[in-house]
Amino acid sequence: MHSVKIAFLTLGMMSLEAGFQASAQPSTTPSDSLLIRQVFNEVLSHGEAHENLRVLCKDIGHRLSGSPSADRAMAWGQQRMDSYGVDTSYIMPVEVPAWTRGDVAEALALSPDGTAMDLHITALGGSVPTEDDDWIEGPLLVVRHLDALDTLDARGHIVLFNRPMDPLLINTGAAYGGAFDQRGGGASVAAEAGAIGVLVRSLTHALDTLPHTGSLRYKDSVDKLPAAAISTVDASALAKMHRATPGTIQVRMRMNSQDLGNVEQGNVVGEWRGSEFPHEIITLGGHLDSWDIGEGAHDDGSGVVHTLEALRALKAIGYAPRRTLRFVLFINEENGNRGGKRYAAVAAEEHASGLRHVAAMESDAGGFVPRGVRMDAPDQGVAMVRSWANTLEPYNLHYFGRGGAGVDIGPLKNLKPRPLLLGLVPDGQRYFDLHHSSQDVWENVHKRELELGAATCASMVLLLDRHAE
Ligand SMILES: [Zn+2]
Repeated sequence: MHSVKIAFLTLGMMSLEAGFQASAQPSTTPSDSLLIRQVFNEVLSHGEAHENLRVLCKDIGHRLSGSPSADRAMAWGQQRMDSYGVDTSYIMPVEVPAWTRGDVAEALALSPDGTAMDLHITALGGSVPTEDDDWIEGPLLVVRHLDALDTLDARGHIVLFNRPMDPLLINTGAAYGGAFDQRGGGASVAAEAGAIGVLVRSLTHALDTLPHTGSLRYKDSVDKLPAAAISTVDASALAKMHRATPGTIQVRMRMNSQDLGNVEQGNVVGEWRGSEFPHEIITLGGHLDSWDIGEGAHDDGSGVVHTLEALRALKAIGYAPRRTLRFVLFINEENGNRGGKRYAAVAAEEHASGLRHVAAMESDAGGFVPRGVRMDAPDQGVAMVRSWANTLEPYNLHYFGRGGAGVDIGPLKNLKPRPLLLGLVPDGQRYFDLHHSSQDVWENVHKRELELGAATCASMVLLLDRHAE
């Protein structure tokens, strides 16, 4: 049995080498393939990502910036990095906003015939409460685009922004980006038009009764209006009522969210020093903070445990990095990106003193089955990653497109020379069903898919370490 196996393996190696000889200028060597096989073997047979995610989601819970549970998560993340054998770990301090949702978010629609329909809403992150935490009421106005309010009289109204995510886009992240302006900027545009409150159709393809939260940005120049996400089912029902009897539907809403100022938290950083080029840095990270109405399991508990598991697996296979590997759990991605901005500011100072970021990778698109990576990089960096396609093909990693690599590492693109930025691309078709909702919980993350993502992150870091320039 054993000899048969060895013969088979030898044959496999021979055909692998023949394949390399046949292809023009292979940019990876067979030892890359063997190392990556070891990484996947380690993660798929001894993986700790799923259990780490359970602890993060169930024992610690959600991790909204500024919350005590985010503090607990920072301590836990650092302890995990230490236990996996980083040379040094530290907290990079970051001032973050503290805001609480409160325990009241209610709305109803009143028809002229006296019937009332309860609406499923939740405050958008950073929203002010309704005045004195009391009910506000106004006629409903439904629009699909922000600029529709240029020509409509919204005075005294509660505005519903109701443009759905485009179902025709295969990239669900692009569909999200195409509808995001309503959540991010709708409240201030509505305030300029004289409205008193705002509802935003939840950013999801799913038709259900879950509101999906997310951050908004107020302009300083206009009043801050209370703004809430409303479920897609309710948004569609309101739009239908509005079409049937325009101007006759009243909406009533109240919320008691609260701004608590700023508190100091931080990015959790673990470093594993390189043996050959210790002054060259490769960063892998995800964001530790999350929204507070679920457990932040996919967003971005997955990225957190991918990062920790990549460290664990590379240690477990006895890998000796040439460059310094930095594992970073960013704070405050969801409502300010202050962690990512702070990290880039520190990296810029380090550049000046000779510590250079050659690459950074982020996992912040969920714990679903990985398809490849998205790259924000100079042409030769993109070409280098694409030259690894044959090495990654056995793991069903086929996507090597260009695009935003991630919010946390995005600010690193201003460094000169510009580092190669990569974002893990998991299958995104179900991500927004859960994203920023009460259903983003550990039970909805699949163990094996999560592990494949972790092994992919570790493999990409390994290839970057061995081949980046
Ligand atoms: Zn995220």
